[in-house]
Amino acid sequence: MAELRAPDECGVPDPAPFMHPIMNKNYGKWVFHSHPKPGVLYHRAASGDELWTVKCGTARQMDLYTIRLLCDIADKHSDGHLRFTARSNVEFGLTDASKIEPLIADLGKHGFPVGGTANSVSMIAHTQGWLHCDIPGTDASGVVKALMDELHEEFIKCEMPNRVKLSTSCCEINCGGQADIAIIVQHTKPPKINHDLVANVCERPSVVARCPVAAIRPALVNGKPSLEVDEKKCICCGACFPPCPPMQINDPEHSKIAIWVGGKNSNARSKPTFHKLVASGLPNNAPRWPEVGAVVKNILAVYKADAQPWERIADWIDRIGWPRFFEKTGLPFTKFHIDDWRGARNSLNASTHIRF
Ligand code: SF4
Ligand code: SF4
Repeated sequence: MAELRAPDECGVPDPAPFMHPIMNKNYGKWVFHSHPKPGVLYHRAASGDELWTVKCGTARQMDLYTIRLLCDIADKHSDGHLRFTARSNVEFGLTDASKIEPLIADLGKHGFPVGGTANSVSMIAHTQGWLHCDIPGTDASGVVKALMDELHEEFIKCEMPNRVKLSTSCCEINCGGQADIAIIVQHTKPPKINHDLVANVCERPSVVARCPVAAIRPALVNGKPSLEVDEKKCICCGACFPPCPPMQINDPEHSKIAIWVGGKNSNARSKPTFHKLVASGLPNNAPRWPEVGAVVKNILAVYKADAQPWERIADWIDRIGWPRFFEKTGLPFTKFHIDDWRGARNSLNASTHIRF
């Protein structure tokens, strides 16, 4: 019998060596937790052990000196224990409550805001942007920095009806996730093909297979093997650009930004939901994306004023209905908001009644 090949993927690393010793010791044995103030969490274990967590926001794309500074702060206040969260926050674990205020003061002195817990606007989860990825239509990190500068007060205070999770994705197809408010690149024109390069750069069958609506066909152009796009079918998703860079879809004018709302990953209190499009065609206006910021802040302000305590954005919209959402936010509802793609039967709001 042939010898089985050992799996060579490392998978998710074991978190235990990176966890605070008190967390390791009391894993699965916590009896109580509370939220003493914005940015601070308290956990008590059955053994009587106590752990306070102080969370601060970062700019995410950090140089070595900033990371060393955070490590120095951890050495000084939390016995060297810190962890980076998926939303680019840093959490310091403390076993002595008297160290909380000096730590917060030290973080504030160096420009790290403390907050992002409970019913605040937490740091925006975002994709890589121009620094790390080769296909972005915008700079997710830049959008996040510009927005969080404006949402700083909502990060350090807990004044929202419930927690608010935001996300930013710099292409329409790959990383990113569901969020209460998601900011997502939106291409509005099919890719432009550089036929001189396709034969040398692209594996044409893989590119053809990649298109979700079968809009790409092999073609001979000027005697060279190339590809062509049926523009009536193309949904401008951008999936062909990563395996075939000569199919350029990023465009300074036609790559826009769209806002989606009501997504939720967890099944706490209500079931997980997919976010839905509410604003599209916003300019991809680096370096501060003011039009995107204005729409997000408007939605947050209306949600804050209108939602009942503990309603997430999806719960709030479920209660008031989509027509009232568009009325209250003043966002225009157009025919382009209706999901009429024939493959969308599962998500299309199709019944004997039209419900929007
Ligand atoms: S969202 Fe798309 S462009 Fe952005 S980092 Fe992920 S794969 Fe790259
Ligand atoms: S952009 Fe998307 S739909 Fe259009 S041709 Fe490329 S893969 Fe197909």
